[in-house]
Amino acid sequence: MVEIDNAADSEKMELPRIIAIDGPAASGKSTVGFAVAQRINYLYFDTGAMYRAVTWAAMARGLDLADLDAIGTLAESLVIDISAPQPDTSDGRQTTVLVDGQDVTWAIRSPDVDRSVSVVAANPRVRVALTRHQRRISERFSAGISEAVGLVMVGRDIGTVVLPDAPIKIYLDASAEERARRRYEELRRRGKEVPYAAVLADMRRRDDIDTHRAVAPLRAAADAHILDTTGFTIEEIVEQILDLMRREEVKRD
Ligand code: C5P
Repeated sequence: MVEIDNAADSEKMELPRIIAIDGPAASGKSTVGFAVAQRINYLYFDTGAMYRAVTWAAMARGLDLADLDAIGTLAESLVIDISAPQPDTSDGRQTTVLVDGQDVTWAIRSPDVDRSVSVVAANPRVRVALTRHQRRISERFSAGISEAVGLVMVGRDIGTVVLPDAPIKIYLDASAEERARRRYEELRRRGKEVPYAAVLADMRRRDDIDTHRAVAPLRAAADAHILDTTGFTIEEIVEQILDLMRREEVKRD
């Protein structure tokens, strides 16, 4: 088995340049996607942060989240910038998220945003605006004008809607209880005490909205590799994905 340790190796092996990773809340997408990106020197891009950023901005302005036009207009006007953190940033962030220049990296992870983001993400105009932005990012890779070797894009509809031609698609899943436990522990680590039962109920509600919305509902693409992360370590899932990427390379030979 050939090891992939750095950008030079991945270039030599010509791994797929774009990986789409989808899955429900706390399925491990962000942690796994970030770790894969680090291993092979790809850009990690978390699309959920964009939906969270719009939600945060709407709440900060006191807008009614059910007002489709007001929220759609807001999504079209905001400048959302998602980038790798500065080397001297040591607060555990995977990316830095700016909204109109303001650093909202942690503000968009609050339980309030957790509870409201799925309603905002079901708004068709919001989806059009953010999908356009996400495709523009991936075009930089297809056109070979990005500094990073490749792109790991993570979300709910990347393999189905945003990048349906992505050469490799992963759908991560885990039981609702396991995912709620992960989110509960993550919140506790950040000093937020929320009862486990409330986290589980919120997660089920969010899954329900994400899966049943009319536009771009959460589902695995027909050609996605479905990986259940329950009971696996992050490293094991990362290895499974890297193996799938290597096999994709073999197939193209
Ligand atoms: O991944 P994360 O939990 O941060 O995503 C927050 C919310 O953003 C999801 O619950 C979903 O409603 C929405 N989302 C989406 N499409 C994406 C990414 C996230 O609808 N591609």
